[in-house]
Order: sequence, then C-alpha cells, then structure tokens
Amino acid sequence: MSAYQPFDLPPNMAPMSAEKSVLSEHRCRCDECAAERTAKQRREQARRLAGRELIAGRLVHPLAVHGTTGAYTHWGCRCTQCREAAMDAQRAKRAS
Ligand SMILES: [Zn+2]
Ligand SMILES: [Zn+2]
Repeated sequence: MSAYQPFDLPPNMAPMSAEKSVLSEHRCRCDECAAERTAKQRREQARRLAGRELIAGRLVHPLAVHGTTGAYTHWGCRCTQCREAAMDAQRAKRAS
C-alpha cells in the first residue's frame, strides 16, 4: 500500500486562510477600526435616510418594509404603519 493520497489539498488552499482574512477585516477591536466602522455605519445610515420622501407631511422610505420596527429605526420611515409598529414594540418592551 502506498502513502500517496492524490486528493489532499495543498497547504495554501486550506480554508483557514480565508477565514483569517475575514476575521482581521471585520472583527478587529482596536480603537481605529472601531471608529472606522462607526463612521461607515453613520455614512450608510445617512445615505439611507437621504432616500426618504416627504409624503403628506411625513418622511417615508420607498424601500422600507413598512409596518416593521426595522423600517422605523433602520430606514427612518415615519408612515402610519411604521409608527404603529414602533409604538407596539415600545409598548411590548414596557409591558415585559
Ligand atoms: Zn484594528
Ligand atoms: Zn413605512
């Protein structure tokens, strides 16, 4: 019997290397990276909020899934459905 195994992956194709690069890119906890992530999130939030339209005196986001708290907080949608969803969530929080 031979020790030769034709289907072994070469060491540079091990899945570890890909995982490592993702970790260092997204999970670094140093102040600089944390500040950069926060700034990026703020820019993205600002861009989302800029997509809102003023409809009947209320800021409404055309891409939001209306009637969800996510649409209210994440997209800044203030349509009747989204405000009700946010109010319901707050009531539920207070009740628990
Ligand atoms: Zn860092
Ligand atoms: Zn809405």
